[in-house]
Amino acid sequence: MDNEESHGEIRQRHRRAIDEATAEITFGAWIDGETRSASTGETFRTTDPVIDEAIADVPRCTSEDIETAVDAAQSSFEGEWGDIGVSERSALLNEWAEELSAHRDTLGLLESLDTGKPLEFAKEEIDGAIAFLSYYADIARSHGGKQIPVDGDSLVYTQREPYGVCGQITPWNFPLYLLSWKVGPALATGNTVVIKPAELTPLTALYAAQLSEGILPDGVLNVVPGYGEEAGAPLTEHEDVRKLAFTGEDLTGETIMKAAAANITPVTLELGGKSPMIVFPDADVETAAEAAADGIFYNTGQACDAASRILLHEDIKAEFTEAFLDHAADYTVGDPLEEGTMMGPLAHQGQYEKVTDYIELGTEEGATLLTGGSAPDDPDLEDGWFIEPTIFDDVSNDMRIAQEEIFGPVECLLTFSDYDEAIEMANDIEYGLAGYVITENASLAHQAASDIEAGLIAVNKYPGDDLGVPFGGYKRSGIGRECAEETLDHYTQTKTVNMRLDEPEL
Ligand code: NAD
Repeated sequence: MDNEESHGEIRQRHRRAIDEATAEITFGAWIDGETRSASTGETFRTTDPVIDEAIADVPRCTSEDIETAVDAAQSSFEGEWGDIGVSERSALLNEWAEELSAHRDTLGLLESLDTGKPLEFAKEEIDGAIAFLSYYADIARSHGGKQIPVDGDSLVYTQREPYGVCGQITPWNFPLYLLSWKVGPALATGNTVVIKPAELTPLTALYAAQLSEGILPDGVLNVVPGYGEEAGAPLTEHEDVRKLAFTGEDLTGETIMKAAAANITPVTLELGGKSPMIVFPDADVETAAEAAADGIFYNTGQACDAASRILLHEDIKAEFTEAFLDHAADYTVGDPLEEGTMMGPLAHQGQYEKVTDYIELGTEEGATLLTGGSAPDDPDLEDGWFIEPTIFDDVSNDMRIAQEEIFGPVECLLTFSDYDEAIEMANDIEYGLAGYVITENASLAHQAASDIEAGLIAVNKYPGDDLGVPFGGYKRSGIGRECAEETLDHYTQTKTVNMRLDEPEL
């Protein structure tokens, strides 16, 4: 087959997949239990980053739609949802999770088409989202207050109560998966939600909301698509929104925190990262190279916890670099719909431009490009936002490519000669989401885990997210923890009851 033919084949494959995934669905806003257009009647387009063609037009919602959605969520909180007990809430959440499971293939295909991630990985993420919803449905029952011993004849106890309407804003890199981290704990604890999904990848959120029809009462779950400033900002400023949760860039997080301050609204923020992986001289090189490759090339490097700075002890550098280059070569770039593809394109044109600008900057700053740095030399992929696995050597920690979040498949290799230097470099950064330690020495691993300033430390692996394992950042990487039992605390407030106990008069 010549290139032109196979080139056309990818386009045809994607057009067929788009038809298949979207045939039965109208992508409207989901407000008060029904599909709606934007109040202005306007739409925006979401595209497939492999062929740069439209997938669907989606309502371009604004403050008026946010107002309607918050009203619906407030009525539901004060009405039906507020009256439902914990068992029924858990059962309904589990029922919705089962419905999502029954539509896993369509959700996975939509996610792959919208983001460009390999289809198999997209389906695994849908499974992960479903698992998180069920996890929260299951643990909500055990989340309560406590009795506190005090002097005198009093009974003092606390109870945990939901806030009411929660505003939740999500990014484009793991759309439904990260939504489940927010919706699960909010609904399980009795809140209602208004979600503003990322404008670049809104489809699975909209479809998942439709799949709650007939399960969740009207107004419990509302999904309002639109742009950050037009739909996201009014949600963060709304005085009936009693809790905000956001995942995205740290600068947007700052804006959201300022908006929240006006109403003294509590916020959970999951922000960016530039996480170090320290490879000590005794490390198993294969383990290190594999973790490093997954840490920067999985999801085309568009992961907040990407291991995007590798700090190498000088004694192991040459051996590691050789093994890492082999792993990078094995990270097959290709059509996300084709089996065996490990890395799809970047999710959109803006991200492609940002990443290629950083690659240019790396060379200008004096780093050495070891591999990659451009689009793959494959005419089949020339219409998509593809970039090859890219590795820079001779990076120093003060370079911008070592300090700023590139959010693409671009690795920076740095060198150290002793422990203190490694820890100093690891912590000399404004972020603190994750840190990775590769060593065979358990004591050294514990010491480094304690010294690295980050919310998550992984040893000898690039981990997935497990149910119940807290995820969140230090420093500019955020506030609060998701994925875990303590997340339920973020969605409830403490009420103290202090009661005088009189002598019984019998
Ligand atoms: P982004 O900040 O550009 O957008 C995130 C969301 O915020 C989108 O829905 C957007 O429409 C909305 N938004 C933008 N401006 C807004 C405003 N003024 N008011 C309200 N909402 C607004 O982030 P992104 O580019 O979508 O996502 C990538 C970023 O997310 C990266 O920095 C990445 O590290 C971070 N991230 C963090 C985690 C984590 O758990 N820590 C997970 C995934 C992604």
